[in-house]
Amino acid sequence: MIVAANFKMHKTRKETIKYLKELKRMDFKDVEVRVFPPFSALIEDELIGAQNAYPAINGAYTGEIGLEQLNEFNIKTLLIGHSERRHILGETQEFIAEKFNFYKQNGFRIFYCVGEPLEVRKKGIEAVVDYIKKQFEGIDLNYENLVIAYEPVWAIGTGVSASSEEIKETHREIKKLTKAPIIYGGSVKLNNIKEILEIENVDGVLVGSASLDVDVFRQMIEIAKEKK
Ligand code: PEP
Repeated sequence: MIVAANFKMHKTRKETIKYLKELKRMDFKDVEVRVFPPFSALIEDELIGAQNAYPAINGAYTGEIGLEQLNEFNIKTLLIGHSERRHILGETQEFIAEKFNFYKQNGFRIFYCVGEPLEVRKKGIEAVVDYIKKQFEGIDLNYENLVIAYEPVWAIGTGVSASSEEIKETHREIKKLTKAPIIYGGSVKLNNIKEILEIENVDGVLVGSASLDVDVFRQMIEIAKEKK
């Protein structure tokens, strides 16, 4: 099982260090735990991944960080294609694939996010699969260090998670395309994580707002530890 926390633009460096200290007081057993803090809170720790990075070692890319900056903290995990970057920051599939390929070449563990907006979900599973397939353009689904995060746009930060049936059918379809673990994200909370982890082909969760409280996140990991 994989349990990952996406802090988005929350927490300072000081708060992140305190959070990690608290978090590491527990035994994760077989659960792979990852924390994605903002750039300013990147620290050298095997749990830490970056929410974004530019596909270059360094260069004239104002406002970005690249491989050189990640290497300083020995960061080897990266989130790519989050819906907030696709829809708010306007990242294209072509650019996302460029990032993927650059960081793949550098051996990163890549958490690659896909997910459909509400108007697509309303059309049914075939439309959802077509949409997600476009988000896989230029992405090597056989990459051995890949984790897919299925995150329906309409479920992120809304408090409305996808239903078990929707998660099940979508993960089943993605599983036909890749052997990579598939985690679910979108309003995962303490009161629904157990049910979500029980769904077939769900290999973990990516948690946004509920992960900000370290006690809640620890309890989520405890629940994941009961799963194989
Ligand atoms: C996310 O941003 O990846 C996410 C799943 O957010 P939330 O849990 O807040 O819906």
